[in-house]
Amino acid sequence: MDAPARGGVPADAEQAVDAARDAAAEPGAGKARPADAGDADRAAWDVAARSRVRTTDMRLALASGKGGVGKTCVAVNLARVLADRGLRPVLADCDVEEPNAHLFFGPAELNRARDHFVPVPEIDNEVCLGDACRACVNACRFKALLAMAGEIMPFPELCHGCGLCGIVCPVGAVGSSSRHIGHTAELESEGVRLVSGEMRIGEAMAPPLIREVKARALEAADEDGLLLYDCPPGGSCPAVTSLDGADFVLLVAEPTPFGVHDLGLAVDLLHHLELPGAVVCNRADMGDPERVRRFCRERGLPLLAELPATARAAEVCADGRLLAREIPDFSERFDDLASAVLHSMEGAA
Ligand code: SF4
Ligand code: SF4
Repeated sequence: MDAPARGGVPADAEQAVDAARDAAAEPGAGKARPADAGDADRAAWDVAARSRVRTTDMRLALASGKGGVGKTCVAVNLARVLADRGLRPVLADCDVEEPNAHLFFGPAELNRARDHFVPVPEIDNEVCLGDACRACVNACRFKALLAMAGEIMPFPELCHGCGLCGIVCPVGAVGSSSRHIGHTAELESEGVRLVSGEMRIGEAMAPPLIREVKARALEAADEDGLLLYDCPPGGSCPAVTSLDGADFVLLVAEPTPFGVHDLGLAVDLLHHLELPGAVVCNRADMGDPERVRRFCRERGLPLLAELPATARAAEVCADGRLLAREIPDFSERFDDLASAVLHSMEGAA
């Protein structure tokens, strides 16, 4: 990848923005915002962006192979810039084991907390056929049922609440109770709606609550909204559940050997899920940015932006404030990143 052309956005991303301007040149379509647009051009571009990257059919996921690379920081700043363009973003904090996106939205606080439960089976041993049957035990792929001493024992912590055991039971011996898995809550600040989830302490499975967070985010989104999923890092069930339904994935990477290695794992996951994606390199000058550029070239991935590491940026982030609000250079970089992401989503639609 060539050195960034301006504002941290590489030359090819800028060309892509130009291409979008040309593509949108038909009457009434508006045009892509050129890098040096004035207010009038920006307003025209916003109208076009709203009509082209439409609504809640379009879902942008922000993911990373490695934790601690600044994914949530990128997600909240991007959401803010998109809100400034009138795209009414709803950000779903899918990292339900360690939710922290809300810390960037002070003084607004999470409210409207809602508890969530999953159904778990209860076995009526008076009715159950026990060892002579075991249909439920054999059907449960999560090993949440065990036949012991002629009785069926459920292990609620392993149960995913799929209901299959009740369906296969020939005598109606499977009843239902529920297990509390955690809660969701939301806040609204300057045009961004955030939905956050937090698992109950001791709860082992994140996916059911992640699905609740995403469902509530969809509820919160109006027709012109844009959904953003801030995914947990890694490639296990929580990350896969968070990516489910995404139209485009922005991978946040850092230019260290560990960062590039884990970026490779994340890209493999996207290929497996057949999801289109692009990369943003955070703290680009902290390591060797050429590592990430080379990786993107080799894997054919667009590198949409490089964000520098500065003492001021670290201070602003650590204080839970927004780079796009506090530092003009970052404001411009996130604005350019938003243009590049919207264009990429358009291309992927
Ligand atoms: S509801 Fe599904 S996961 Fe839970 S015990 Fe029954 S079959 Fe297993
Ligand atoms: S399927 Fe029903 S009858 Fe058979 S072992 Fe399970 S609970 Fe008992």
